[in-house]
Amino acid sequence: MSDTRHTKLLIIGSGPAGYTAGVYGSRAMLDPILVQGIEPGGQLTTTTEVENWPGDTEVQGPDLMLRMEAHTKAMGTEIIGDIITDLDLSKRPFTAIGDSGTTYMADAVILATGARAKWLGLDTEEKFKGFGVSACATCDGFFYKGQEIVVIGGGNTAVEEALFLTNFASKVTLIHRRDELRAEKILIDRLMKNDKIEPLWFHQLIEVTGTDMPLGVEGIKVKHTKTGEITEIACKGVFVAIGHAPANELVIDQLETHMGGYVVTKPDSTATSIPGVFAAGDLTDHLYRQAVTSAGMGCMAALEAERFLSEQE
Ligand code: FAD
Ligand code: NAP
Repeated sequence: MSDTRHTKLLIIGSGPAGYTAGVYGSRAMLDPILVQGIEPGGQLTTTTEVENWPGDTEVQGPDLMLRMEAHTKAMGTEIIGDIITDLDLSKRPFTAIGDSGTTYMADAVILATGARAKWLGLDTEEKFKGFGVSACATCDGFFYKGQEIVVIGGGNTAVEEALFLTNFASKVTLIHRRDELRAEKILIDRLMKNDKIEPLWFHQLIEVTGTDMPLGVEGIKVKHTKTGEITEIACKGVFVAIGHAPANELVIDQLETHMGGYVVTKPDSTATSIPGVFAAGDLTDHLYRQAVTSAGMGCMAALEAERFLSEQE
């Protein structure tokens, strides 16, 4: 049944940025509505231990996000399990259409749609997605008990995924296009000490090979980035961990973006090029992309939205 809701503040996204905006927006008496999207809790629900969230030496990502959700709800934010499929920022109140059929009219909007995993764009990667090719070790690692698998990438995600996958796999080959990882030193240290992980430097995945009936991965072909030499590696699973791109599809034609699609905000602010529209977290951050920085920006966005709305009254 279609329905129209009006709110002073609509928050789109339920990662650390969205939930923190909800906490601050509620305390500013804005009665926010927060729409969670397809991934309630955001990216941290796809990982295990988080060791850099202040106050918790170690916390499981999904638990942390459940606590944030409960906190946001307790402060008074209405949390809705819906996905925004269309957003019109051309006039106020702004209009968002939910997949549920609900129309949300909002005097101010905080965009906190975060980022999504990037893929290499190979035909064979697409072919075996969900059948041996994955971008989420915590979701799919369990299926590779006692098997050989590969992880592609050299950032924090790739290294964490490789370490996590050693809980299941007999061997993990970490394939990186350079010989230097961009992951944090503490993670590199753990990687190098792990006997089950073998790094393969200067290689790029060029093809995933496998069977059609049933669909399944049997190996990969990699190319040496300097010599061009092609090597085949037998494996049952391929985890692609080559970074994340901002989830900007709702606003790409309406807001200024830069650095590969990140929403531009004013200096020292979360204000976008449209008054009343604020952006926080990984959607706008090409530099830090951390839970704590996203939460910080969620706080800024709610405080700025409150100031904007009181100036309008
Ligand atoms: P996200 O967490 O990306 O959440 C985006 C939200 O937007 C989701 O809830 C989604 O459902 C919603 N959304 C998207 N589109 C729509 C739509 N159309 N309608 C409604 N809602 C929508 N950072 C750390 O600080 N420490 C770590 O240990 C750490 N580990 C990580 C491990 C992994 C595997 C990954 C992938 C990331 C990790 N990060 C870590 C990075 C951290 O998760 C991100 O920086 C942070 O989650 C970004 O928060 P965010 O609120 O901007 O968005
Ligand atoms: P990232 O830091 O952008 O790293 C992406 C990696 O993939 C890089 O090593 C890059 O190689 C490689 N890569 C990119 N495109 C490629 C391609 N086409 N082919 C082959 N390799 C490719 O991404 P991320 O690791 O997903 O991390 C994203 C953000 O989340 C970061 O800010 C990170 O700190 C944060 N995060 C934090 C934690 C934590 O705090 N524990 C955990 C996970 C993620 P080059 O190095 O050669 O560019």
